[in-house]
Amino acid sequence: MKAAVFYGPGDIRIENKDKPKPAPGEVLIKIKNCAVCGTDVRIYSYGQANVKPPHIIGHEIAGVISEIGEGVESCREGERVTVVTCVGCGVCDFCLDGRVNLCKKLKAIGYYYSGGFAEYMIVPREAVQQGNILPLPEDLPFDEATLAEPLSCCINGQEYLNIDMGDTVVVIGAGPIGCMHVELAKVSGATKIILADISSQRLKLAQRIKADIYVNSQEEDLVKRVLEETKGEGADVVITACPSPQAQQQALEMIRSRGRISFFGGLPHDRSKVTLDTNIIHYKEISIYGAFASHHLQYKKAIELLSSGRIEGKKFITHHFPLDQLVEAIQKVKKGEALKAVVIME
Ligand SMILES: [Zn+2]
Ligand SMILES: [Zn+2]
Repeated sequence: MKAAVFYGPGDIRIENKDKPKPAPGEVLIKIKNCAVCGTDVRIYSYGQANVKPPHIIGHEIAGVISEIGEGVESCREGERVTVVTCVGCGVCDFCLDGRVNLCKKLKAIGYYYSGGFAEYMIVPREAVQQGNILPLPEDLPFDEATLAEPLSCCINGQEYLNIDMGDTVVVIGAGPIGCMHVELAKVSGATKIILADISSQRLKLAQRIKADIYVNSQEEDLVKRVLEETKGEGADVVITACPSPQAQQQALEMIRSRGRISFFGGLPHDRSKVTLDTNIIHYKEISIYGAFASHHLQYKKAIELLSSGRIEGKKFITHHFPLDQLVEAIQKVKKGEALKAVVIME
């Protein structure tokens, strides 16, 4: 089979490898599409501690079950599926609560396990047992189905925020994740959604998803604008979908009393200590939440949102690439020239 193998920062090679054979308890998937995630871009650029080269990355997967290992009864050959990225230990309190993304022994597909930038991928036994293989509705195209993963992560973030009808929501960061947050907030009934970014190019691409107001925060004071748009009150919800300490500080300056903030995007490890005016949190009764990855139920919700058309997957996908051009796809995303780039296996 053809596979894109990561050898280290800046080094991904297309190779021919033996087609894997599922051991007892495992399942072999023929990958149809695998989308490029922001973390794939980071792994390609800088490497990552839990990705040991040579390794096949990619976790935004849609495909068809090709072969079933001995003893597996939970799925059938030919079934259209996606795979939940997070695989927990199965026995800790968080796993028992369904929150595998918070398991201390978390292992993830495309990081610890071999991923989807290849023609075939093995789903490990523990993932099969934990129900990580989810069926896709017939009417959901493979490319749109790859969005289930990033969308499920946004659902995880917004579940904490209780976005309600009439809310004003500010999203800082107009990449694919920020754009998904905009659409998801609309589904929850938000009536004024302000999308900000420092890149005019990303803001231009993000016109596809129709936020109510676009702000280039390089050219315009975002805090001032949000206060103007909310009669001086501030936004009900602010989501930072960018790796910027300053955005986290600004979130507190533009939040309304009793508002909710999501520090959705992580910061670079050497810049993750941020000074916040905690008196704002105190006097205005602000809640600040984190969010990391997602779990099975959130994947199911994402699949339903995509297949019902409540979230239109097509809007997010700007580019398709063959596997041979994975590096080009990663570079397009890195430069902000693509919203979502999907790699298609032949
Ligand atoms: Zn992802
Ligand atoms: Zn666990």
